[in-house]
Amino acid sequence: MQQKLSQPQLITPTADITTATHGGRAKCLQRLVRMDLPVPRTVALSFDTVHKIAAGTMPDMKALLEPFGPQPLLCVRPSSEDPDWGGPGAVLNVGMNDALYVDLCDRIGTEAATAVYMRFVQGYAIHVARLDPDMFDGLVLEGHEGLRQVLAAYEEETEEPFPQDPEVQLSGVLRSMARAWEGTTARLLRQAKGAPADAGLGLVVQAMALGLGKGECGSGVIQLVSSFSGLPKITGRYRSQSQGRDALRKEGTSIYLARDPRGPSLEDLAPDAFAQLIDYTRQMRVRLREEMQTEFTIENGQVHVLDGVRIRRSSRAAVRIAVALAEDGIIPKEEAMLRIEPRAATEMLHRQVDPDVPRQVIAHGIAASPGAAYGRIVFSSAAAQAAAARGELCVLVRRETTPEDIRGMHASADVLTERGGITSHAAVIARGLGLPCVVGASDMKVNLRRNTVTMADGQVLKEGDAVTIDGTNGLVIEGEAPLLEAAQDDAFTTLMGWADEMRDISVRANADTPADAQIARDFNAEGIGLCRTEHMFFDPGRLTVMREMIFAAEEADRKSALDQLLPMQRADFVELFRIMKGHPVCIRLLDPPLHEFLPATRDGIRSLAEALDRPLSDVTRRIEEMAEYNPMLGLRGVRLGITMPEIYDMQARAIFEAVLEASPEGASVVPEIMIPLVSAKREVELVKGRVEAVAAAVRTTTGKDFKYRLGVMVETPRAALRAGEIAPHAAFLSFGTNDLTQMTYGLSRDDAGRFMQTYVHQGVFPEDPFHMLDAEGVGELLKIGAERGRDARKDLVLSICGEHGGNPESIAFCRAAGFDYVSCSPFRVPVARLAAAQLAVRDRLKAAD
Ligand code: PEP
Ligand code: MG
Repeated sequence: MQQKLSQPQLITPTADITTATHGGRAKCLQRLVRMDLPVPRTVALSFDTVHKIAAGTMPDMKALLEPFGPQPLLCVRPSSEDPDWGGPGAVLNVGMNDALYVDLCDRIGTEAATAVYMRFVQGYAIHVARLDPDMFDGLVLEGHEGLRQVLAAYEEETEEPFPQDPEVQLSGVLRSMARAWEGTTARLLRQAKGAPADAGLGLVVQAMALGLGKGECGSGVIQLVSSFSGLPKITGRYRSQSQGRDALRKEGTSIYLARDPRGPSLEDLAPDAFAQLIDYTRQMRVRLREEMQTEFTIENGQVHVLDGVRIRRSSRAAVRIAVALAEDGIIPKEEAMLRIEPRAATEMLHRQVDPDVPRQVIAHGIAASPGAAYGRIVFSSAAAQAAAARGELCVLVRRETTPEDIRGMHASADVLTERGGITSHAAVIARGLGLPCVVGASDMKVNLRRNTVTMADGQVLKEGDAVTIDGTNGLVIEGEAPLLEAAQDDAFTTLMGWADEMRDISVRANADTPADAQIARDFNAEGIGLCRTEHMFFDPGRLTVMREMIFAAEEADRKSALDQLLPMQRADFVELFRIMKGHPVCIRLLDPPLHEFLPATRDGIRSLAEALDRPLSDVTRRIEEMAEYNPMLGLRGVRLGITMPEIYDMQARAIFEAVLEASPEGASVVPEIMIPLVSAKREVELVKGRVEAVAAAVRTTTGKDFKYRLGVMVETPRAALRAGEIAPHAAFLSFGTNDLTQMTYGLSRDDAGRFMQTYVHQGVFPEDPFHMLDAEGVGELLKIGAERGRDARKDLVLSICGEHGGNPESIAFCRAAGFDYVSCSPFRVPVARLAAAQLAVRDRLKAAD
C-alpha cells in the first residue's frame, strides 16, 4: 500500500487517492471523475512522492507520462491538503516543443500556437531554469520572430538549447514546484495560515485542454452564487478566443456569463456549453456538498472541466450558502452550523472594512470592539458631543478613557486610545455600545495640549482629520476606508435558530442600560448576567448627586443624596425588568473605587466646587484624600459596601421596589443580586444580612412578597480558593475573569496593553490573557472554585461574566467545567450562541462515533 501510494496514479474512480495523502485538488478531481464529468486525464502525485522529488529522487517518469500518449501537452498544479495553505503557481503547456508547435499551428492556428510556445519558454526559463526575468526585456515577444528571439535568449543564457524532451521538461517543472514548497518563506507563510510544519504538497499532472481551436474556444470559471452575498447569481469569467476578448463584462469588477448588451455572451456563443456548465456546477453542489466554482475550457464548442474549487466567500455568503445547502437537504443542519466560524458572526453584526480595497494603515493597536467606522478626530468628550450635535461622525481619540468620557463615547462613531488593554474602560464600554474600538495603540502619541496625535511614521493628525477605525483587526486607517454593510439577514436568523435548538449552555448578556438590554434581547440573550450599576451613575444629572454623596461628611447628608439616587436606580431597574420580560437579571452592587466618580481636570474640579457650593481647596483636598496608589486593589467592590453600607442598602431597596413595580400581579421577576470583589466569607455574611433586612423592610412597608437570589462574584484568587465556605451563603457564583486574570497574573488590566504585544510576540504568553482565558492558570482557579462551590452546595449556579465569556475557547472551558451559563457583551451574544451549539454538536457526534 505504502509503495502504491508513493507512485504517481492515474485519477480513476477507484484509484487510491485521499486528501490526506494527495491533497484536496487531487481528491476533488477524483470526485469529478466519479461524477463522469469531462475531466482531462490527470495523474496525481502524493505528498510522499513530491517530498522525494524535492530531495532529488524522481518517480518513474516514463510511467508517469504513459497515460498522456506520445506527444503530451500538460499542466501541473499544486494539491495541498488545505487550499488556503497556498502552494507554487500552476505551470501550463509542459511538453511544448518544436514538433508539437508544428502540429498545433495546424490545429489552432499559427498565432495561438506561437503564443502558447513562447509563454511556456518564458515560464520555464524563470521558474525552472531560474533565469532572470529581465532577460526577455527588449525582445519583440510577438509572432515567429518573437518566438525565435525567446528561444535564442534561453540558449544564450543557459548555453543549451531549450529542452525538447517532455520528460526533461516535466522533471524540471516537478522539481522546481517541489522545492518551492519546501522553501523557508513558503513554509512560514503556510504555517501562519495554520498549516503544520510538515504539511505535504501533492501535485496533479493533467492533459491540457487548451481552449484554443477554430470553432468557439475559450477558457473561464463559472459559479452559481455571488461570493459576496451568497445569493443565486451566475458569475464568472470567460475569455473567448474567437472574440479575442472577454466575452462579457458588466460594470464593476464582476464579470458575468449571462447576457450583456455590449457583446455576445457565452450563452450566445455556445448555448449548449453554457447550459452544460450550469448543469455540471449544480451537480457538483449536490455531490460535493459544497458551492463550487467550475474551471473549464471550451474547445470547438465542447466543454472540459479542469477543476472544481470551493468558491471564495464572505462571512455573509458563507452563512447563506450553508443554510441553503441544509434547506435543500444536501447537508444536515448540524453540519451547516459547524461550517460557520463563530467569529464570522461578528462580521455579520457590524460594518467591516472591505478587505479587497487597498488601505493605508497608520497605527496598530488591540482589536477591542469589532466593526469599523469612519469619523473626524476629536480629542475630548465635549468635542465629540458638539460634533454629534452638528450631525458629524467623529472618532474619540484619548490616551485612555474614564467614566467621564461616556457621553463622548455615546456621541462618537468609534473610539481610539493610546493606552489600555482588552478589559480597559474604553474597551468594555465600546463593546457594550457596539462601537468599533482600538485600544493600546502605543505606536501613536496623543498630545492633549496641542490636540494632535503623532503616528509611528511621524505623521501628525489634528482635530478634524479623517480616519477609519477597524476594531475587528486593531487598525487605524487613514481617511475614509470603504466599508461593507452589516448583514443580519434571514439566513443568519435561521442559522441562529438552529444553534439555539442544539446548544446546552445558556448565554446571557452583560448589559448596563435599557439600550444594552434591548440589544441583548434582540440577540436572544437569555437574561442579563452582569449589570454593572456604576455605569448608571455616569449620566451628568446623576453624577452630581453621586458626588454629593461621596463628599457628604455627615451620614444624614449622605442619606439625603442616596434618597435622590434611589428613584433613579429604581426606574433603571424597572425598565431593565420590563425589557427582559421575566428573563433573569443579575444586578451587581456598586463596584468601582469612589475616586472614579470624581473629576480629574482643573475645570471639572472647579465646576464640582460650584455645584457643591464649597471652596475649591476643600474639594481638591477631598479628592486627594480619596486617591489611592492602586485603586483597582483599593476601596472598591464589596469593600465599599462594608465601609459605606448605605450605598448597597439603597441599591437593594431600588431593586426590590422595582421588582414590585415591574410585576404588580405577583413576582414574575426574580432579581439576582451580586456582590463584587469578594475575598472572604464574612464579607458575604455582612452584605447578606443587610440585604435581607432591606428586603424585610420593603415587604413590611408594601405588604407584598417577592423572591430574590443573592450571589457572589468570584474575582479574587482567594474567593476561588475559599468557594467551599462562600457557596453556602450564595445561590450562585459568577466568575469575573477580568479581575481574576488581573490578580492571578498580578498584571494591571489598564496597563497591560503597553507591553502585551511584545509579550505575545516573544511567546511569553500565547495570547493576551485578558482576551483569551488562560486555561492553565486562571482556568485552574475557575475549576477549583466550581468544584469546591458545588461540593458545598449542589444547586449552586455557576457562570462566567468577564470579557472572556463570549470567546468560543472559554465557552468550551466553561461547558466542560459544568457551568450553567456564560455572559458577554450584547454584540458577542450571537458568537457565543453559535460557538456553544457547535461544541454540543461536536460532543454528540463524538459520542455517536
Ligand atoms: C470582571 O472583573 O471580570 C468583571 C466582569 O467585572 P469588571 O470588568 O466590571 O471589573
Ligand atoms: Mg471585576
